[in-house]
Amino acid sequence: MRDGRHGTPYIVRMKSSSHSSRRKDCKSTMRLSCDVDVKNRLLPSHGMKAKGRPMRCSLAIGRRGGSSSKPEGAVFLMLCSAKDKTGTKYKLKDNVEQVFTRFVEEGKVTLRLKEPAQDMCISKADPLQLKNFLSVLKLSYKGQSSGLSKVHLSTLTPATTAQVERPKTKMVILKRSDYPISQRFPKGLESLQVNGCGLSRVDCRILEMKSLRALDLSSNRIRALPNNPGQLSVLAELKVANNLLERLPPPLCLSSLRTSLHSLDLSENSLKFLPPQICELASLLRLNIANNQLTALPDHFGQLGRLRFFSVAGNQIEVLPFSFMDLALEEVDLTGNCFQSQMLEGSAAHFGRTQEGFPSLLEVAARAIKKQRIAYTEEDLPRHLYHHLSQVKWCVCGEPCFQPYAKHQFTFSLHRVAHTLVGPTVAPIEGFLCSAFCWSSLQANPNAPWKCRRK
Ligand SMILES: [Zn+2]
Repeated sequence: MRDGRHGTPYIVRMKSSSHSSRRKDCKSTMRLSCDVDVKNRLLPSHGMKAKGRPMRCSLAIGRRGGSSSKPEGAVFLMLCSAKDKTGTKYKLKDNVEQVFTRFVEEGKVTLRLKEPAQDMCISKADPLQLKNFLSVLKLSYKGQSSGLSKVHLSTLTPATTAQVERPKTKMVILKRSDYPISQRFPKGLESLQVNGCGLSRVDCRILEMKSLRALDLSSNRIRALPNNPGQLSVLAELKVANNLLERLPPPLCLSSLRTSLHSLDLSENSLKFLPPQICELASLLRLNIANNQLTALPDHFGQLGRLRFFSVAGNQIEVLPFSFMDLALEEVDLTGNCFQSQMLEGSAAHFGRTQEGFPSLLEVAARAIKKQRIAYTEEDLPRHLYHHLSQVKWCVCGEPCFQPYAKHQFTFSLHRVAHTLVGPTVAPIEGFLCSAFCWSSLQANPNAPWKCRRK
């Protein structure tokens, strides 16, 4: 359709060129790798339906015979695909009817050519490269030769295989010898799996992969995760099972992973403690922290409102936090923990503290930060306030308290929070009471607090 069989004077087939000039052309800035769907606008008027799928293409703007030769020569847009690497040329001057740029930030643009009557729908381009490309395109179709003389145009040589290949989105490395040491990882990678390669840390090059959605670094020898996920702003799945992790860095939980991460697997490591910041991973659907050395879950674990699949099997947890009752899980696995079997139903310990007098400024500030759920880092706050905040307890009434009035323990049926139970059906729960009022309410009716919260 575009190769001149229909006699359009603006389309010319290119001849193949030498290997050296092809390599030079790769370096040219006026080449764009993208998906292109060419639609003929005349087909519907002939009663035909335009069918087509976007192809991976290389678009180039240049003059035939080289960028420097014949500077006054016509400027062409050349479209090369895997099927047609030698390319199809479109004259540009006065031949672009309109450029639709509303979605340019998403790497999408449509060029409406006058002759032939075709719409060139460009997608999956790098937005920055696309904008540069469009600015030169504009100079070309408006015939502004003075502006074009400053631009290094393409020599319109045929595209290389790499330029018209779909970018690799998935990579699996299962052998140390396959792990790239000097080469780069493919730029558009969406899924990366590196297992059994003896990695001792998360490679900096991995943290630069902007498109990465799933990262599996299981069965390596990683001792620590980075504080910052770098450019991994869309990472939804992180699997670091069967490594040597001893801690989960709090800043990592407060990073972009807060909204992007759906699944986190930290099973079979050496975690002794989970930072309270893990409860900030608000999009988390799956959490697997089985087979570690945890003795407790963070107090406000129930804040993970989207959590559906949770396993903490094979740890040393003695009691669950009161907020656990706020969860609405599909499946929970609590096998192999050290739940206290001798716990008395409804037992309570009175700390004998009174709530008389005014709270300190420190207490007021800490309560306000917790109550309003204000995000903070260690640098934002005075040191003593930051330390104070880490000791927060949550009363069964939902208020934060730092000096609990009393502690309440009871056995809880896990059917109330999960459809499917693997392991025990009941578990001990521990709650704190902020005031004499909450304490006396509990004494009056031990089942009241959780009922209030579930409403
Ligand atoms: Zn209370």
